[in-house]
Amino acid sequence: MKFIDTHAHLQFDFYDKDRDEVIRTAFEKGIKSIINIGTDGPTSKMAIELARDHKNLFATAGWHPHDVTKYDEKKLLDFLEEDKVVALGEIGLDYYRNLSSKKLQKEVFETQIKIGIEKNLPLVIHDRNAHQDTFDILKKYHPEKVVFHCFSGDYTFAQDVLEQGWFISFTGVVTFDKGSYYGIIRDVPDDKYFVETDAPFLTPYPYRGKRNRPEYVEYIIQQIAEIKQKTPIEIARQTTENAENFFCLNKKLD
Ligand SMILES: [Zn+2]
Ligand SMILES: [Zn+2]
Repeated sequence: MKFIDTHAHLQFDFYDKDRDEVIRTAFEKGIKSIINIGTDGPTSKMAIELARDHKNLFATAGWHPHDVTKYDEKKLLDFLEEDKVVALGEIGLDYYRNLSSKKLQKEVFETQIKIGIEKNLPLVIHDRNAHQDTFDILKKYHPEKVVFHCFSGDYTFAQDVLEQGWFISFTGVVTFDKGSYYGIIRDVPDDKYFVETDAPFLTPYPYRGKRNRPEYVEYIIQQIAEIKQKTPIEIARQTTENAENFFCLNKKLD
């Protein structure tokens, strides 16, 4: 069984002591590709450096809502020219921690959406407790390729997002908050979702509480398989294909 972790942060300092071992083990345990997601200047840069060193690692670049006060457009544009940058993100709104003002979050979010459209790149969206504003802003510009990473809205919101042609992505939260996700997972069209760890965070059951690792997407896949009444291999195949298409990974490997 081969699968893709579409959203990890292996460049974070949680992995400073054993990053090489974590990457090697992930590939040994069935991971086909990993996309390391940037959240500001330094983490985007490091994601790109890791992608240069490893064939099946990819990167994104972008300024997370927590870090918008440090937004640097020149750097972003430089990062987006890099060969293995497959998306712009993670960008969006976070009203849970509100580490930056709502006004500035929205401004920098809109600016980055416009750049993503101009560069024809998929957008990786972070939306925490900000569903309506995130949706309204995206709808205003209507980028074509959008994924709501770590989808956390309710059933109705999932249908609204899918109706726009956008994707949703599931983390380990689906293994311990099954009730909230049951209907969403059951009804999400086969070609409109994929999986991610958000490592080092959101570790799935049975490793909850420990540091997350890319190969743990297997537990997310098992949970989805159970709800969709399919085999884990079918879910792995489908989510891999969806992610490869969405991020155009195969084109980057040619
Ligand atoms: Zn996020
Ligand atoms: Zn993340």
